Amino acid sequence: MSVEPETRLTRQRKIILEELRKVDTHPSADQVYEMVRKRLPKISLGTVYRNLDFLSAEGLIRTLKSAGSQMRFDGNPDNHYHLRCIRCDRIIDLPISVFDGLDDKIHRITGYVIIGHDLEFQGICPICGQESQKNEGRATNESERHKN
Ligand SMILES: [Zn+2]
Ligand SMILES: [Zn+2]
Repeated sequence: MSVEPETRLTRQRKIILEELRKVDTHPSADQVYEMVRKRLPKISLGTVYRNLDFLSAEGLIRTLKSAGSQMRFDGNPDNHYHLRCIRCDRIIDLPISVFDGLDDKIHRITGYVIIGHDLEFQGICPICGQESQKNEGRATNESERHKN
């Protein structure tokens, strides 16, 4: 099919969107695939990728990219800021409001027409902070396995 229905979501897309909106864990495509497979047992990973692309292009979800990490997906399309743990790659939403004046300021400095901004803070979550204190010398904890 070459013509994509713009206003209508297919059943697959609806289910992917619903599952993504249930969580605030910002899953990777692999994790989304595992989540939707319970409801769509025949879906392929490639189809999940294509649908995530579509939902993102439509502005219904957001994508979070970071060098060296898998792309992550966010069912909340409204701008909000993120905090990523550099050890376990956990991403949480920050309960602060978006800096509305920032886009204007950057426009004044650069002359660019600003269409928006993303902000991601990096840190070490309390769980990883505790683990590294407790497990000095041990490399079998969750955070080490995610690091590669
Ligand atoms: Zn962590
Ligand atoms: Zn988020």
